[in-house]
Amino acid sequence: MTPTNYKRILLKLSGEALAGPSGYNIDPAVLEQYSKEVKQVVDLGVEVAIVIGGGNIFRGVSGERSGIDRVQGDYMGMLATVINAMAIQSSLEKQGLYTRVMSAIKMEQVCEPYVRRRAVRHLEKGRVVIFGAGTGNPYFTTDSTAALRAIEIEADVVLKGTKVNGVYTADPMKDKTATRYTSISFQDVYEKKLNVMDLTAFTLCQENNLPIIVFNMNEPGSLLRVVQGDEGTGTLIK
Ligand code: UDP
Repeated sequence: MTPTNYKRILLKLSGEALAGPSGYNIDPAVLEQYSKEVKQVVDLGVEVAIVIGGGNIFRGVSGERSGIDRVQGDYMGMLATVINAMAIQSSLEKQGLYTRVMSAIKMEQVCEPYVRRRAVRHLEKGRVVIFGAGTGNPYFTTDSTAALRAIEIEADVVLKGTKVNGVYTADPMKDKTATRYTSISFQDVYEKKLNVMDLTAFTLCQENNLPIIVFNMNEPGSLLRVVQGDEGTGTLIK
């Protein structure tokens, strides 16, 4: 077993990432890859909690354009995250992991209600806990959910799995000279107006001294490398 930097992590995955190249629904290949990546860190003895978005199925804001009331749309978005949580649960179980989905909105036939102490107990027993239904409140995001739950369960770090390798000086897709920060302070992210998470989520992390690592979840082995403290992978914000 190789040493790890963290005892307990909160992994944030966007719903869109789960969709793969098509941009919607759930891609079984992505699901399987993500589950294998998670298994690698669970096998190291790391306690893993996951927050997954719902953007591949529904977003409150975009619902507004189709004539759906914002609050109603946000609840629909939260339900979408539960669908993704169930998908990832099933896939993680195929990898032989023990899991629990805990929802901020009660739906007892499907998953457990979120109770902080129970979540911590599950983690201590080595179960992967997937937090569904966001914060349970409209006008929030799953990034904010990730920050909030990470603080509640006293995770050591929020790992934000994205499609890019970290935080760059400029958009690497548009600017060839853009370079990746290995590490950057919360203050510098603010001042340089770099896009890491929405401000609510970002402020929650900063005020609670909760570091964030942005990394590329689609690059095989990167989750493991991040957990092992490899500075060549991702960007640490602290
Ligand atoms: N949402 C919400 N409250 C929360 C979390 C999520 O209302 O606490 C809704 C919101 O409409 C959001 C949608 O759920 O657009 C899906 O979450 P998000 O957009 O964060 O997913 P991602 O972009 O990560 O796929």
